Amino acid sequence: LFITFEGVEGAGKTTVLSYIYQELEQKGYDVIKTREPGGIEISEKIREVILDKNHTAMDGRTEALLYAAARRQHLVERVVPALKEGQIVLCDRFIDSSLAYQGYARDLGMDEVYTVNKFAIENCMPDLTVLFSLDPKFGLKRIADNKGREQNRLDLEKVSFHEKVAEAYRILEDRFPKRIRSIDASQSLESVQNECLHLIESYLNR
Ligand code: C5P
Ligand code: MG
Repeated sequence: LFITFEGVEGAGKTTVLSYIYQELEQKGYDVIKTREPGGIEISEKIREVILDKNHTAMDGRTEALLYAAARRQHLVERVVPALKEGQIVLCDRFIDSSLAYQGYARDLGMDEVYTVNKFAIENCMPDLTVLFSLDPKFGLKRIADNKGREQNRLDLEKVSFHEKVAEAYRILEDRFPKRIRSIDASQSLESVQNECLHLIESYLNR
């Protein structure tokens, strides 16, 4: 079972994913957690290239292709083998991030970015996607208040960019209502964690 977490910056994806991982493991599920871009050595290296603050001249299509390349390698090396073992894979971001960030917010076109990603992932779409819905202004504020967090190239984007990302996620939610389930990420961390765990457990027991 392949479960992805999506949403704007500072929505709580990484924190809640760790919580869900621990809870599922304690309940005896065979589960792994991973992230994109990254998760394995080659893809973490591609991540460094994409997110380097000095790479301000990176072209949008180059960026989209690098994400797709990182995704491909991570999928083949990490995700698919785990799924074959029957493990639950919890992944921080996946294809919807590319559709939202590169396709919509960077204006490359969601359909075109989907085509590139279809080549990268073949038919391996997530079974379930948890969308952390949040006004990007709140998310960016959370990030600004979190001093320990490394800044990357995307953190330097304008608020309007992140608002487009949020809009794209709403479009995706409408387009894929069976796969994408959204939760209100403006609630307290505890409430978001509970809601997310409940959502995933009811999916597992469906
Ligand atoms: O979720 P995480 O903080 O690890 O993402 C790293 C950065 O990569 C974020 O700033 C996010 O905006 C950016 N990103 C992107 N396009 C993607 C995936 C992530 O711009 N397809
Ligand atoms: Mg995160």
